[in-house]
Amino acid sequence: MAYEALYTRGRPKTLSQLIGQEHIANALTRAISNERLSHAYLLVGTRGTGKTSTARLLSKAMNCERVHEAQLSGRPLDKKEVPCNKCESCKNFDSSPDNVEFDAASNRSVEDVTRLLSTAYLAPLRSRVKTFIIDEVHMLSFEAVNSILKLIEEPPPNVAFFLATTELNKVPMTIRSRCQVLNFRLIPQTTIATYIQTLARRLKVDLHEDAAKKIARLAEGSMRDALTYLDQCYAMADKEITLDDVNETLGLISNESLDEIIAAVKMRDRTATGNGLVKAFRSGLAANVIAESLITHLRDIEFENLGTNEKDFPEFDRMIEALRKATGEMNGSGIPDIILEMTLMKLAAPAQNFTVSTPIVKAQTSATVSNLDEGKKIFYDVTNSSEGKVYYPILKNAAVTSFSDGVLTLTFKSKTFASLFEGDKKDVEQIFERIAGRAIKISSDVNPNMPPPILNGMGEPERSNLAEAMSVFNTSDVTKINDD
Ligand SMILES: [Zn+2]
Repeated sequence: MAYEALYTRGRPKTLSQLIGQEHIANALTRAISNERLSHAYLLVGTRGTGKTSTARLLSKAMNCERVHEAQLSGRPLDKKEVPCNKCESCKNFDSSPDNVEFDAASNRSVEDVTRLLSTAYLAPLRSRVKTFIIDEVHMLSFEAVNSILKLIEEPPPNVAFFLATTELNKVPMTIRSRCQVLNFRLIPQTTIATYIQTLARRLKVDLHEDAAKKIARLAEGSMRDALTYLDQCYAMADKEITLDDVNETLGLISNESLDEIIAAVKMRDRTATGNGLVKAFRSGLAANVIAESLITHLRDIEFENLGTNEKDFPEFDRMIEALRKATGEMNGSGIPDIILEMTLMKLAAPAQNFTVSTPIVKAQTSATVSNLDEGKKIFYDVTNSSEGKVYYPILKNAAVTSFSDGVLTLTFKSKTFASLFEGDKKDVEQIFERIAGRAIKISSDVNPNMPPPILNGMGEPERSNLAEAMSVFNTSDVTKINDD
């Protein structure tokens, strides 16, 4: 037996199955019950939101014997029985000569379209109502639009028109004003995810929740796209579809790979960033796919941490902004790979994007400050600021040993950390100046015998770093660290 695509199988059979467009299903059910259907509908919405499916359901319902019986007896209809799918008319709908469907975007000639439309003046052959479903109606030629206009203005008896479009602004006002307009909404991601999971269960496949969410997000509000993606994954799947399966089948980058790149950028580690990117390129992903995936992933992380853990948000926003700009530059550039690489390298560069927003008062005021505690306080504020956090891996290995005349001395236990710091000193100084609100110079110093006094004179949260610091400095003497 030939394989039937999910997109076809998942198509709604009644108005009650119209996913995400309940407002339309309810309104149409009421209109059918009250015999107040229009003879011309304009169905508006992005692709895959159910426009053509709705048009077919309505065409079918207009000819359904049971719907007709209910109308005659005055019994209100339920959307589950619109149409019935059991009567002769419903069963023969697909082969009915009285339902004409065509896509105005396809290359049909003007004569062809005119001929099809002219059949509207002929009585239906088998059905009660003759129906015309025209997709992408905004693509019709001027002549065709005029023929339709005439038909809608003075409709022949027993004819109904369903005009679908993705671009309402391109549909002539003369047509718009004569149709009943149905606005199709983008289908929410959660609705799509739930629906495709139900569908997968029916297919006896375990579609993982994160995999369903990923498909739903990619579908961008279009059920048709979601079903097409699911179909592709289903074709490759055995008994289950995992997030990895979705990524692999649809040629997407895995969350782990994205996390790796994001973590490397956050740590200002250019080597790791480059490695992460090379890995993504090696798996055959295009630069714009990688960039867009990074943006979506960063946005997802922010969304998940909203209100609970927002400390990295400024850093994430910085990445999103740069990547967004990069995707714009990639379009038609011919060197998208290089643009992405350069963008990530810039992002991973030591704090080069920081600008000093606070005007700096020159050193004369700093003479009044010769207080070590004050220096420690500034140091603490810096390491806890969003910009300063970037340098935390280095700064956590330093202690403020003096602060006078605007010069703050940071003493490192090892030369390695001191020289790492020297590389970023200018940028770090800028952060200190901004947070302190005055000019601060930093001098670095090395003292191998010194315990890591970063933990001294600071709040409780820093004490939690004790174990880490102890391992870094091979110290087991806690009191030595705690006591100044
Ligand atoms: Zn029927």
